[in-house]
Amino acid sequence: MTRVFLIGDPIARSLSPAMHNAAFQNLGLDVRYELLETPPHKLREAIARVRADDCLGANVTIPHKESVIQYLDDVDAWARTIGSVNTLFKRDGKLIGASTDGEGFLHALRDARVEVQNARVVILGAGGAARAVAFALARAKVASIAILNRTPARAQLLADLVRAHSPIDITANDERAIEHATLIVNTTPAGALPPGTNFPREAIVFDLVYHHTDFLRAAERAGARAIDGLGMLVYQGAASFKMWTGHDAPVSIMWQAVQ
Ligand code: NAP
Repeated sequence: MTRVFLIGDPIARSLSPAMHNAAFQNLGLDVRYELLETPPHKLREAIARVRADDCLGANVTIPHKESVIQYLDDVDAWARTIGSVNTLFKRDGKLIGASTDGEGFLHALRDARVEVQNARVVILGAGGAARAVAFALARAKVASIAILNRTPARAQLLADLVRAHSPIDITANDERAIEHATLIVNTTPAGALPPGTNFPREAIVFDLVYHHTDFLRAAERAGARAIDGLGMLVYQGAASFKMWTGHDAPVSIMWQAVQ
C-alpha cells in the first residue's frame, strides 16, 4: 500500500481524507490518504516522511503553504510565481511542489456561474491560499483587487508581488474597497469584515472554509449571494489526485464523499 499525507495544523476536521480515499477506492488503487498533523517545528520531519518510498506525495495546508517551499527539490513555474504550494508529488526521484488552489477556486466559481471578468474583488487574508486566489483572479482579468489582512505588511507584500506580474489595479489594506466590491473572498479560517464595514447587497461572497460559516450567513442576511469552499475543495483535490496517480479523478465520487 502507498500513502498520501495531508500536512498542516490544525487538520483534524479536514474532509480531504474522506474525499481522496473514496476516489482511490473507486479506481481500485491501493493508496491511503492520511493526516500528518504538523506544527511548524515539525515541518522538516514531515517532508522527510513524504520522501519515503511508500509515499506518492502530499497536500500542504495552513500554515505551511509558503514555508514548505524551502524543503522541496523543485516547484513548478506557477507555484514559483505565486510563492505557494498545496501539492507535493514525485518525478524522477525529486519532490516537486505545485499549487492547485487557484484552479480549484476558479472552477468552483464557474460551477456557480459566477463571471469574474471585470469584477471588483476584495480578498480577506494574505496567506498561501490568498496568494493562489489573487494570482488566479488577476489572470482571469478582474477589474481590481483589494487585499485586507490582519497583518497589514503581508497584504502589502502580496499586492506588490501580484503587481510585479500583472497590470491589474491592486491595493493593500484599503477598507474602502469593500463598499464597491462585487466579489468578496475570505481566505482566512475566521472570516470577518473589518469593524464598521458592511457587505454590499449585490456582492458575491465566497468563503474558502468549506462549510456554511457565520461569515456567509452574515453575507446572506445583508442580501449578498454566499458560496462556500466545498467546490474548491473538490476541484483542487481532483487536480492534485491527477498529479499523484496519473489518473483523472472521479469528481462525482469526490463530491458525494464531501457532501
Ligand atoms: P495560511 O497560509 O496560514 O494563511 C492564513 C491567513 O489567514 C493569513 O492571512 C492570516 O493572517 C489569516 N488568519 C489566520 N487566523 C486569523 C484570525 N483569527 N483572524 C484573522 N485572520 C486570520 O493558511 P492557508 O493555507 O492560506 O489557509 C487559509 C484558509 O483557507 C484555511 O481555513 C484553509 O482551510 C482554507 N482553504 C480552503 C481551501 C478549499 O479548497 N476550500 C483551499 C485552501 C485553503 P496573518 O497574515 O495575520 O497571520
